[in-house]
Amino acid sequence: MTARTTSELACTALRLQPLGTPLYGPATTCTMCGIAIAEGDMHSRFDPPISFTDHRALRGTGVVCGFCEAARDQRVMRKLQRCVVTSDGCFPIGSDDNRAWLLLDPPPPPFGVVVNAASMTAAFHLFWRTPLTLDRDLLIVNVDNRVMPVRRKVMLEAIGWCRDLSAAVNAARTPARRRPDMKHPFRRLDRSPFGGADGHGVLLEEAHRLGAAGEFAPLVRNLKSLWAGELWALATLVKSKPVTPVRPDPITSIEASATVED
Ligand SMILES: [Zn+2]
Repeated sequence: MTARTTSELACTALRLQPLGTPLYGPATTCTMCGIAIAEGDMHSRFDPPISFTDHRALRGTGVVCGFCEAARDQRVMRKLQRCVVTSDGCFPIGSDDNRAWLLLDPPPPPFGVVVNAASMTAAFHLFWRTPLTLDRDLLIVNVDNRVMPVRRKVMLEAIGWCRDLSAAVNAARTPARRRPDMKHPFRRLDRSPFGGADGHGVLLEEAHRLGAAGEFAPLVRNLKSLWAGELWALATLVKSKPVTPVRPDPITSIEASATVED
């Protein structure tokens, strides 16, 4: 059966059995991932530790599905902090070369994309609020609990827009101020854009001035129309030192990969 949520997919990927007891009674809904819990499905009463603070994200049913119960184990959550969750395993995307693989050559859907960019150590509850990507050309990424679509065709075109507008910006500069390694015309692009990064996705003033002149207006308009997810993706794809995409080795169990991500 095709997985319905990232939690269910994570259990398939890491070969975890759903936990809890079979439901005997009316069907209900998982308070975490929202999956339907039918008669006979594994479930538990939701009883979070005192450290749990994401109450606003819950659905208020008071029960959790067997998949979320298995995946909210701390050891599992640590594996799910920066990865693509697929039925073949969890592919780590903590590095730019692995992330470029996801963006340029995504695996077959469905998959869930979880990126805890804010913290390299804390295990945050991101996986169960990560909608599945069902189309390779419309990635759904959860970056620090912001769920963002990435239109891949737009993202790929934007690489060229960045190249063309930064070339124009450089050409308009005095020779001393030109930067041959300039790959984009933004003040900055940040892979962790929600930590108060100043200038993320904001075009350089020079780019705006060029846009006002006419010839470069479409490029400026196109780059200004990018969505948050596409700007996040460009931070990996238009670096001054480009990376070669590398497909990571999948993690397929908690035990076998204990040293990989910790
Ligand atoms: Zn659930």
